[in-house]
Amino acid sequence: MENELRQLLAEVQARLLGVNVLADLEVVRIEVLGRKGKLAELLKGLAVLDINEKKVIGVVANEVKMGIERAFAEVEDKLSAAAVLAKNESEWLDMTMPGVTPEVGHTHLTTQAIEDITNIFAHLGFVRARHPEVDWDYYAFEAMNMPSDHPARDDWETFFVKGEKGVKGKMVLTPHTSNGQVREMEKGVFPIRMISIGKCFRRQADVRHLPSFYQFEGLVIDKKASVTELKGVCDYFAKSYFGPDRVTRLRPYHFRFTEPSFELDVSCSVCSGTGKVDGVKCKLCKEGWLELGGAGMVHPNVIKAGGLDPDEYSGFAFGWGVERTMMMRAGLNIDDIRILYKNDLRFIRQF
Ligand SMILES: [Zn+2]
Repeated sequence: MENELRQLLAEVQARLLGVNVLADLEVVRIEVLGRKGKLAELLKGLAVLDINEKKVIGVVANEVKMGIERAFAEVEDKLSAAAVLAKNESEWLDMTMPGVTPEVGHTHLTTQAIEDITNIFAHLGFVRARHPEVDWDYYAFEAMNMPSDHPARDDWETFFVKGEKGVKGKMVLTPHTSNGQVREMEKGVFPIRMISIGKCFRRQADVRHLPSFYQFEGLVIDKKASVTELKGVCDYFAKSYFGPDRVTRLRPYHFRFTEPSFELDVSCSVCSGTGKVDGVKCKLCKEGWLELGGAGMVHPNVIKAGGLDPDEYSGFAFGWGVERTMMMRAGLNIDDIRILYKNDLRFIRQF
């Protein structure tokens, strides 16, 4: 038995010379030192020996076991070191090489504009609100002082959604963000200073129009809202968004949901509101002004639709296109506005 044990040690030592990878080493280890391994099998023979023989063989068995373990440890050290070396070799890194700059993207220019607009109005206490972009006819028109047979509805080129009529009419893809006005009043929290930004839809698609675009809708409902405050808010926005030298003017207009109603114009950046550049008519504007969008004092019928008494509450509202406002700031004279959403990176990357 002593011989067999010493033979096992020699066999293992020889075997390990041929092992080149750690995984193979593990296989041999189980084969020799495992619970049912060769060493364990040999040691079963101890049971039949007498006490003196056991003492002698026990010492030999211990020596052999330690010898085998040492042999494994040596090979393992050697192979581990080799593996680290190989890894270093294959993943070699030259710290002096110039780095690769990762490409950092940015939000779409419309998203940037929405964030800028929200922040400016936040300074005046306006809270961003969201309202349905598919809504009942009632909120888009009826509550906005446009009964179902009113011709003013024709201006909106509305998409109607197929389906049954509900108590609040048909469903429409909102043609403007004004559907949020009465919805906001229905929440019953006053005074209201909201800026609602959302998608609008109209059946129009050409170089100047998108079938889906963004609007931002400002609404103030309070006990003493005035045209003066409306003008002040418009001025603050124009100076913050377009630049401190810009001024606004309100031009009388007509909308169903406001009375009085205005178009808001901003002074032209190219000619500084004069309409002329070096004595020649400005190419960007009409007589020094650029049209931004509609505004006005909320119509008493709209206030009533919101469940309030128009003798007690008044308000003002304005609704402007995000894309249009954004292009006015950038001084962009885009031939075809549809390029904004064509995902052409050559265009998008410029912003
Ligand atoms: Zn001009």
